Amino acid sequence: MSLLQPDPQAPSVWRDNLPVTSRYTYGLAGERFFRILKDEGKIIGSICAACGATYVPARAFCERCMAELTEWTDVGLVGELHTFTVLFVDMEGRPLDEPELVGFVRFGDGGILHKLDADPDDLQIGMKMEAVLKPKAERIGAITDILGFRPVT
Ligand SMILES: [Zn+2]
Repeated sequence: MSLLQPDPQAPSVWRDNLPVTSRYTYGLAGERFFRILKDEGKIIGSICAACGATYVPARAFCERCMAELTEWTDVGLVGELHTFTVLFVDMEGRPLDEPELVGFVRFGDGGILHKLDADPDDLQIGMKMEAVLKPKAERIGAITDILGFRPVT
């Protein structure tokens, strides 16, 4: 058989819906990361005692040397802008009413991708960016507990 001579015995396309349910879990390190973000308003990372890497968000194992990560550290709310972009369309490709800024803010050897509250003309790679958190009563233990990052003034 070839692409020009399709196999008449081959299965055809089946169009329908499959009921799929799933539950995302944060895992051990993610659970702790989001619980401390929610309850204490802190961003924590995990440190690899074997190679010295600092992971933010916290992880359970080092991706470099596979060591179990059992040391935790408060990395503060100020990271360094690693990269950013301006979005003009949403996830469906529809134009946004107002362009949005997103960026990767580095903490240790990791970082957080999030919205930026800034004028793009004022941003410079390497500048200090501060996390803006929701009020404690509104936090739910999710990345949206961080409203975004803004330049440190
Ligand atoms: Zn390591």
